Amino acid sequence: MIYPPVSMPCRDVKQLHPTLQCAHAEIVRRGNALGHLIGVNQTYRSIAYQNELYAQGRTTPGPIVTYATGGNSAHNYRLAFDVHRLDPRPAWYTSAMNSITPWVFYNGDKWFDKVAAIWVAMGGKWGGSNDGPHMEFTNNQTISWYKAGNEMPENTLMKWEMLKPLYPEENEMRYKLLTDIPNDWDIYGSPRSVIKILMDAGIIKGNSDGTLDLSHDMLRMIIINYRGGCYDKQLIAAGFAPAVK
Ligand SMILES: [Zn+2]
Repeated sequence: MIYPPVSMPCRDVKQLHPTLQCAHAEIVRRGNALGHLIGVNQTYRSIAYQNELYAQGRTTPGPIVTYATGGNSAHNYRLAFDVHRLDPRPAWYTSAMNSITPWVFYNGDKWFDKVAAIWVAMGGKWGGSNDGPHMEFTNNQTISWYKAGNEMPENTLMKWEMLKPLYPEENEMRYKLLTDIPNDWDIYGSPRSVIKILMDAGIIKGNSDGTLDLSHDMLRMIIINYRGGCYDKQLIAAGFAPAVK
């Protein structure tokens, strides 16, 4: 992988290892779904920049922002990114908090812990309460292993990628033929006989090759509609008994 030229500090996701690029997109997607709007604050750090950061709060002015010297952070190997919050600051924050804690790093509501839980479930490692924004994935290798010149293969998969099916439908139950449809579901009777009636009445036609290929959810929907009398008009017109007497 050839990375484009970069200046420090850097928040460009494209400077991350490919595995981390995918994972970043995924944690943003999962965060959004849960109402956590995730921004990225830093991605790759050169060793020189890491040393500069390490000096901050020690030999140069400013607060301490890192515990790692150059070469000793996952950021130096494109295997970590720092997140911040993008959600709008509520009114109470300005009145109750001082300006030293910027909202983007505010964790009074455990926002970083919640985002970290997503990351850990995906197979990543969190910086912990001392380094809340820090999300890394080193594929169970130590930083010294990377420092020695080893690299994580570009096709490395994280846990979340190994768990997800190749296609979303792959894990879903599908009924290709009428005979694939269960005959005894519950006390209400046989979904297969309902589909058979609807086919005989010409309401369900299936594919030209005679297959139905219904997903489980589609089948449930049809049964629910049938029992609710949705097809009764057509059933009566075709000379069949209505579902709702
Ligand atoms: Zn970090």
